[in-house]
Formats: sequence, structure tokens, C-alpha cells
Amino acid sequence: MKKDQRHSWRTATRAIHVGEEKHGIGAPVTTPITRSSTFTFSSTAEMKRWAEGRSKAYIYTRYGNPTLTVAEEKVAALEDAEAAIVTASGMAAISSALLAVLKAGDEVIATRQLYGGTYRLMRDIFPRLGIHVQYVENDLAGIERLVNKNTRVLYTETPTNPTLRLVDLRKAAAIARRHKIVSIVDNTFATPVLQKPLSLGFDMAVHSATKYLGGHSDLIAGAVAGSQKFINAVRQMVIYLGGSMDPEVGFLLIRGIKTLEVRVERQCENAMAVARFLEKHSKVARVHYPGLRSHPDHALAKKQMCGFGSMLAFDMKGGPGASGGAARRVCDRVRVFLLAASLGGVESLVSLPLYTSHYNMSAKELAGTGVSPGTIRVSVGLEDPRDLIDDLKQALA
Ligand code: PLP
Repeated sequence: MKKDQRHSWRTATRAIHVGEEKHGIGAPVTTPITRSSTFTFSSTAEMKRWAEGRSKAYIYTRYGNPTLTVAEEKVAALEDAEAAIVTASGMAAISSALLAVLKAGDEVIATRQLYGGTYRLMRDIFPRLGIHVQYVENDLAGIERLVNKNTRVLYTETPTNPTLRLVDLRKAAAIARRHKIVSIVDNTFATPVLQKPLSLGFDMAVHSATKYLGGHSDLIAGAVAGSQKFINAVRQMVIYLGGSMDPEVGFLLIRGIKTLEVRVERQCENAMAVARFLEKHSKVARVHYPGLRSHPDHALAKKQMCGFGSMLAFDMKGGPGASGGAARRVCDRVRVFLLAASLGGVESLVSLPLYTSHYNMSAKELAGTGVSPGTIRVSVGLEDPRDLIDDLKQALA
């Protein structure tokens, strides 16, 4: 990441300090965990004021909690958002954000290459709620022909999981604005360090905070950032559906966010080194990394992001059968990389999307996502890049 390209240094400073106790003798440097499910009122008059919506007092942790408020202020600072809410998981964030604006009879236009869990939510649950989803390719071709009087949400994800294709966020936001559709983007892969969707016109950014925001593979969390109006609506949905975060997790998330920028910066450098190595390897058919010139969205990545991220994928050579076997052998042989789903932690991971994020999909559905049996997804961590490359060398040999 070029220093002058970073738009987030100030943001990182804010994200470290915002919400913390102000200085004073004996003040804690870190956020205390408010390990309480419920909060007292000083009188029934106070209780009545709360019930009438005239008090912002904490009442019950599903509604809000001081530790979670700090986490929310940090996420909002990172995303340059008016407000944010943290949730029990990325899927709680995604489902609550979508259901906050959708009702039976509404339509969603979504880009086809989504995280498998999001896709399955739209495929398996939304029809039961009377919500119809139409898909467009990442280039948004023909999207305006799909818009009709019921269209309520434009939902996208960029870079995509796992083939790292990009969606032009400025273009998508402009289309949504033109048609008065709510725009929501999953910013998990990019992180707010590399991409700020709200500043490009998006209404809401959602996260699996399990990934980079947490950063240490030790929590499950989600977040939504946007205007106060949208976040109030999402909070209502979290309160109804119960996808609220536990304060202990809030503490871990706060801790993770403090080092987000330095982790992402170093992980981007490591990913570039790994991608360049893989691109030259004789057994590798193709490397999906937006930082490579060979990537179809390299130019857009340079424009839209201020670093290329630390997720990549590569396809082994051979037809579906041979490449699938080869991919499994590589994943079974790595020693520094760990064979695990998830991403964004300090440990480098490999996984087969076919058996993890994209399980339970038909051959036709998989074709639309770019995932093949020979596709290996890589989350590059903070190890020495020489160790990572040596490990891949021996696993590919
Ligand atoms: N969005 C993306 C891009 C993801 O990769 C994932 C999980 O892998 C999710 C959302 C779901 O997040 P969570 O597992 O925290 O519910």
C-alpha cells in the first residue's frame, strides 16, 4: 500500500481512541467489559421515560451495552459513518441490515458472486418471506432493466469471495440513488482500511467482523455502518431477531480494531509476494488477486481501493477431476498455512471453497461464482512471506 494512497491513517487514529475513557489519573487505557445483561434505573419515572423513547439509558444488553457502544463508535470511525451497530456474527449483520429495509413483496438485486452464506440466505429463506432476488453479474450489465416498482435493495460484495472479482461501487451507488434503492455492500474482504463504500455513495456497509476487524480468529462478530437513520432500523431488527453481540466479544473486537491498519498493510504486502510466486508456478493455472496486472479488475482495484487486500485464490492446472485432486493434495500438504475455513486472521489459511464457503451449491450455481474443484482460497496472514512461499513450494512440488 502506498503511504500517500492511504485514506485511513487519520481514521485509524480515531478508531484507536474513539469511545475510550478520557485521560485522568487511574483511568483504564483499554475498554472495560461491562459484563452485565441488565442495567438499573434510578426510579420508575426513569423507566417510564425509557419506555416512551425519551431516554437513551442502557436497559438490557440486547438493546445496547457500554462496551458495545465503544465497539460501534470504532466501526463508525473506520467506515466514516454517522453510526454503526455490532452484531453476533456477520450473518446477523447481513440479515438484520437486509430485513431492516425489506418486506414481503419487495425485490433485491444482488451481484451473483456473494459469500455462500449470504447467497443461501437469499436462496433458501427470502422466498419464504415473500422477498424475491434477481442477480446481475459483477459488471452490473443490464441492471437497470431489472429495476421495477418493487425493487428495494441493491446488494453487493467486493472483492468477491473467493475469486476476488470487483464491483464498481461508485457506479452501483449511482444506479441505486437514481432509482431510490437502498444500497448495501459487504466490505469484509476489503476492510475499511482499503475501501470506504459510504464515501463512494453506499447507504450501508456490512462486515463479518469475525475476519479482519477481529483479526485473530478468536471471535464471531458482525457490524453494519451507515447513517443514523439506517442504523436505528438495523438495531430494531437486531433487537427483534436477537443477533446482538456479547460484551466479551465486544472487548476482543475493540482490541482487534486497534491494530487493523498495521495488520492489513503488512498482510497486503505478504499477499502480493505470495500471488507473484504462485503466478509463476508451473502447476498453477491462474491466480485470482486484484493486485496482479493479469487480474481482470486490476485497474478498478487501483481506482477504488488503496491496497489490494490479503485474500487470493488460485486454480490448479488440469480438468475438473485432476485439478480437484491436485488442489486437495496441496491443501493436505501445507504446514505453515493451516487448512481451515474463515479468513482475515494473523495466521495464513488455505481452504477449498467447494467444501467450505460454497458447499451445498449446484454445478450451475458454482459456475456463476467462478469456483471450480481446483480452486484453492488463501487468506494471507502475518508470517514471514519467505516461510509462506517455501511452504507453498513444498506443497506444490
Ligand atoms: N461475508 C463474507 C464475505 C464472509 O466471508 C463471511 C464468512 O465467511 C460472512 C459474510 C459471514 O460472516 P460470519 O461467519 O461472521 O457470520
